[in-house]
Amino acid sequence: MNPFSLEGRRALVTGANTGIGRAIAQALAGQGAQVTCAGRTPADETVAAIRASGGAAETMSLDLSDPMAARDVFEGQGYSILVNNAGTIRRGDALDFTQADWDAVMDVNLKAVFFTAQAFARAALASGHTPAAVVSIASLLSFQGGIRVASYTAAKHGVAGVTKILANEWAEKGITVNAVAPGYIKTNNTAALQADPERSRAILERIPMGRWGQPEDIGGTVAFLCSPAARYVTGAVINVDGGWLAR
Ligand code: NAP
Repeated sequence: MNPFSLEGRRALVTGANTGIGRAIAQALAGQGAQVTCAGRTPADETVAAIRASGGAAETMSLDLSDPMAARDVFEGQGYSILVNNAGTIRRGDALDFTQADWDAVMDVNLKAVFFTAQAFARAALASGHTPAAVVSIASLLSFQGGIRVASYTAAKHGVAGVTKILANEWAEKGITVNAVAPGYIKTNNTAALQADPERSRAILERIPMGRWGQPEDIGGTVAFLCSPAARYVTGAVINVDGGWLAR
């Protein structure tokens, strides 16, 4: 059997209408998983692309600004893969940072990550859909401080911590829990950076591979972590950053 195959597995990816989430959904479907593309914006284009290449996918409406939004979506549905990808960012000087900008980011990027994983694991364990895998999208700001992004950095450090505690608690139950920390990836999220010639040049100069990442670079790593090939990997936060953190 191909140890990278996801045939017969059902997966849910949050924020799959665009960017990294879309590439993850496509990578999972490419390995044979049936993928639910969940988010607040319909993921019709992602689903169409997956179906056009012979894969199986459907959309689901899910707004994670309510961190409990996924509480009832897994029960009895046979999911054994969850990818917490949805994320948002607010920028502002720490001296001026507002509670609203703190809460908006923490709710989607951290609180929803935990409670979506909890709902997923409860359902997978109740129905015996193990081995199962949770992968959350972390960040370089799970390791570094960044600047003017207090709630994002706090949340992404939190994603690394939540990944480790859930890995510890669920290892013996047959659920692996890992995170992938992307470097600088070309998506809407980084459009402003890409458009700023000075910032863009400074970033490129620091990346040993000498290029920005593509969403597909993340998709492949996530698909691996969900597959039997990664069955002994849990509690890991894997940076996929063209060498950025090694520098
Ligand atoms: P993106 O293109 O802005 O995608 C973000 C996704 O999250 C979109 O699908 C977005 O949906 C969804 N989302 C935001 N708020 C949501 C909510 N309340 N409920 C449901 N879905 C919501 O950015 P991306 O770069 O692909 O980001 C994906 C993940 O990678 C994020 O967790 C981000 O922090 C992380 N990341 C990205 C980079 C990078 O360089 N691009 C680096 C490190 C980490 P809408 O389209 O409806 O807004």
